[in-house]
Amino acid sequence: MHNLRNKSYKQILILIIILSIFFQTSAYIMASANDNNRNQVKNIILLIGDGMGTSHITLGRISKGSNLHMNSMSYNGFATTHPIPQEKKWVTDSAAAGTALATGNKTYNGYISVDVDQKPLETILEKALKSDRSVGLVTTARITHATPAAFASHNSSRDAENQIAKETIGKGINVLLGGGRGHFLPKSDNGKREDDKNLINSAKNLGYEYVESRKELNKINKGNILGLFNDGHMNYEIDRDKSNEPSIAEMTTKAVKLLNQNKKGFFLMVEGGRIDQASHANDPATAALDIVAFDDAVKVALDFAKKDKNTLVIVTADHETGGMSLGANGIYNFKPEELKKQKSSLEKLLPTLTEDNYEKEIEEKLGITLSEEENKEIINSFKEKEEITKFLTDIINKRSNTGWTSRGHTAADVPIKAYGPGAERFSTYMDNTDINKIMTELLNLTGRKIKRAA
Ligand SMILES: [Zn+2]
Repeated sequence: MHNLRNKSYKQILILIIILSIFFQTSAYIMASANDNNRNQVKNIILLIGDGMGTSHITLGRISKGSNLHMNSMSYNGFATTHPIPQEKKWVTDSAAAGTALATGNKTYNGYISVDVDQKPLETILEKALKSDRSVGLVTTARITHATPAAFASHNSSRDAENQIAKETIGKGINVLLGGGRGHFLPKSDNGKREDDKNLINSAKNLGYEYVESRKELNKINKGNILGLFNDGHMNYEIDRDKSNEPSIAEMTTKAVKLLNQNKKGFFLMVEGGRIDQASHANDPATAALDIVAFDDAVKVALDFAKKDKNTLVIVTADHETGGMSLGANGIYNFKPEELKKQKSSLEKLLPTLTEDNYEKEIEEKLGITLSEEENKEIINSFKEKEEITKFLTDIINKRSNTGWTSRGHTAADVPIKAYGPGAERFSTYMDNTDINKIMTELLNLTGRKIKRAA
């Protein structure tokens, strides 16, 4: 009897041990499967606000009157922006900063994804293509402009946009949407090309669907696409003809839809290209609307990533432009309501002003009624284009109390915001080249694996 009870105790004990090993093992397997899922980055959407410093993000939020989507992203960090440190210039241009983000290497200002010896540096877009992923570039600037160019081409001069256009077309990039039609057309066809080549026809021969309006863009549902919506940069959001030119959010929606048809995943770069230019012009109302429009594209990316779960979304900037401050001249106030009255960019308004129409135009387009003194001043400034630009810039910034320290870039660090698998890696202070290195690692595009894929 005693022996028997002892035996059944033993059996129960063994059963408990077996069951506990089984549950622990299965829990471990499930946990590691979850870990793998969490770490798997199939797609990356990198959104770059050109010239978008922290003040710009605040400007967008205050002007919008509610929080920006980018501010909801789970992980936040900061990045340096300077070009190759040996130069000790500290202030980057979009070419050197674009090269850092596209290749993980520092270079000189003006250089497009080439090193200091002008040797090509492989970009994350090129590596993603080699790994059979789909790739895309979306921008509101010219598609040949420094930031997208740094992902698609190699050149020791950012100004060689005719060459950059040719290289971009020949690369097999699946989605190309932006401005800059002039660099794809010969001079004989109102373009800027001196080689008399029509690269739009070349693109069609390479299998691209070509579109140049919002309506045409809407019709494309598969295949490779080249969309060039303006001869130069696309219009600022404040000036955009919404029936004809797609918004940056609409372009992003289409890009994601097309690229996501590849089961192996995709890499997409989206640039809010004109935040920078509005800031070069010290035109805060125009910058504000482009920041909010860029943020709408961030929402498109986040909505997709939330459903997809294998998409990493990163929002950052290449540098800050303008040394902008919200509140200036020792006055503790900023008046976004003054910016809301503006209906046109300064860039678009200025060439239309004459001594006869200026009073009405400034009232209508900028929402500004000039004082008697200002009227006298503007009449005098009509002699020089630069004078009137300065006069109007001063007037709009004085009314909203926006400050600017420069018409160029500054050396300020820029924010990084990340959402999705691997996002926690960006929740620190890093060099801008590290953003590329982490993306490359998360997409499994490090050198060794590339060779195998290619
Ligand atoms: Zn710039």
